Amino acid sequence: MTSLPKARTPAAAELTGSGGGVSTAAPCWNGRLRTRKRCPDASTSSSSPSPAFRRQTRKRRRDASAPAPAARAFVFKPSKKKSDQAVEIGSVDDANAEFVTASLFHLTQEEMLPYYNRLYKKRANMGLAWYHESNQEDRYEFTNVHLSDVYNFMDDGVCYMHMNFRARNEATRSEKLFFAELALTDNVFNQYGGYVTTTCSIVDDNCLGGMKHRLDDGLPTERRDKQHCYVCSKDIKHPKGESYKGGHYAENYCVDGDD
Ligand SMILES: [Zn+2]
Repeated sequence: MTSLPKARTPAAAELTGSGGGVSTAAPCWNGRLRTRKRCPDASTSSSSPSPAFRRQTRKRRRDASAPAPAARAFVFKPSKKKSDQAVEIGSVDDANAEFVTASLFHLTQEEMLPYYNRLYKKRANMGLAWYHESNQEDRYEFTNVHLSDVYNFMDDGVCYMHMNFRARNEATRSEKLFFAELALTDNVFNQYGGYVTTTCSIVDDNCLGGMKHRLDDGLPTERRDKQHCYVCSKDIKHPKGESYKGGHYAENYCVDGDD
């Protein structure tokens, strides 16, 4: 129990019978034990304490003998601010990856590579996070992405990204090829640069590649093609056409890339 400082009050003097010894210069505590004020000179008091004063005295004694309230357990809660945590470069939480490229215009393409590797690694991890939401027992970790396997384009007013990347199964350690589509449909100032994942799935060499090369033979009669992508090269493997949104219109999207 926490002991309060012993108060040198008229009451204390009365209880101990030492009233005559209390100096008139000594400070005493008032009822709230916070503000000091000067005590009346007990030694010069000629009258006995009033009934009200004795009631206050008894109350103080009861309060002093009451058990102290149980101390609250102190629980350490580590800060959850992102700035206090080590964020893995290129992870989903790597918010700075969105902004480092804004100041790269004075660099050569070669000097920009590490920055884009970081950004596209993050995009791939965003795709994996989307994949894991519906495949909880089949988890993968990113291994690599080639910058030439990433296509940024605009379709019907929306910026899209199509990409192939590789990831390793956490349990079996086998590596798989993934396709992901992301779309810029959110706030560009958020921690993902406004991009959201629209699909991410495992693909292989038997999957359809992009149809960009088809445009070399002229535009097809049927311009809308739900099954194919006309942005990417044939090396970029895609899942079923219905699972992604961009690139289905047969036209030149003015995207550089290997054919
Ligand atoms: Zn594509």
